[in-house]
Amino acid sequence: MDSRPIPSEISRANLHDLRIVWKDGHQSTYPARYLRLRCPCAGCVDEWTGRRVLKSADVSEDVVPTSLQLVGRYALRVHWSDSHSHGIYTFEFLRDLCPCADCESSAQESEGLEASD
Ligand SMILES: [Zn+2]
Ligand SMILES: [Zn+2]
Repeated sequence: MDSRPIPSEISRANLHDLRIVWKDGHQSTYPARYLRLRCPCAGCVDEWTGRRVLKSADVSEDVVPTSLQLVGRYALRVHWSDSHSHGIYTFEFLRDLCPCADCESSAQESEGLEASD
């Protein structure tokens, strides 16, 4: 079964935020700095240990995405105003990062409690 999340629309919610509407109708709004801090590139995350090297203090409070670029059919590359553009955010990763209340509560449920529909 292929349950990979697919975005039907990727746009800027406003100057700072990124918005994704998913094929299943779910909408995610990501604050720019939240996404920038979770950049998955080798410069921000240690490739071997998986440890995050990027520190909160390293990212400016007013960082914004300057452009968005699709990578194949599975990911999004974000160019940031701090001239960082190495991060490739797969759709799966982005969906996992969805900061909405629904996703946060389902993430908690999956930590031990029984799953419900
Ligand atoms: Zn990075
Ligand atoms: Zn969500």
